[in-house]
Amino acid sequence: MKDEDTSGLVHWHCEKCKIRIAVIDKEESELRLRYKDLVIKLNWSDEPCDNDTVNVLCRRCAWSNIVTRKQLKSGFVNGPVDHSVKK
Ligand SMILES: [Zn+2]
Repeated sequence: MKDEDTSGLVHWHCEKCKIRIAVIDKEESELRLRYKDLVIKLNWSDEPCDNDTVNVLCRRCAWSNIVTRKQLKSGFVNGPVDHSVKK
């Protein structure tokens, strides 16, 4: 399930408590995470290493939210990490 707003950004929500933890800009190939004055931006390329993962600890409930590069590229940011290859 993806949550895309009018700007084309995909929202990544905590699996457990559902607050928004980051946004994904698929056009810019970029994950953006901001909290107070901390900003993290992750850019990915199209090199073949789709099993790279990003792990964001939820600032509210401390749940460990993990997505693969493949999931980031497809905009799929909810649900458990799926390493199987299907599109
Ligand atoms: Zn949470």
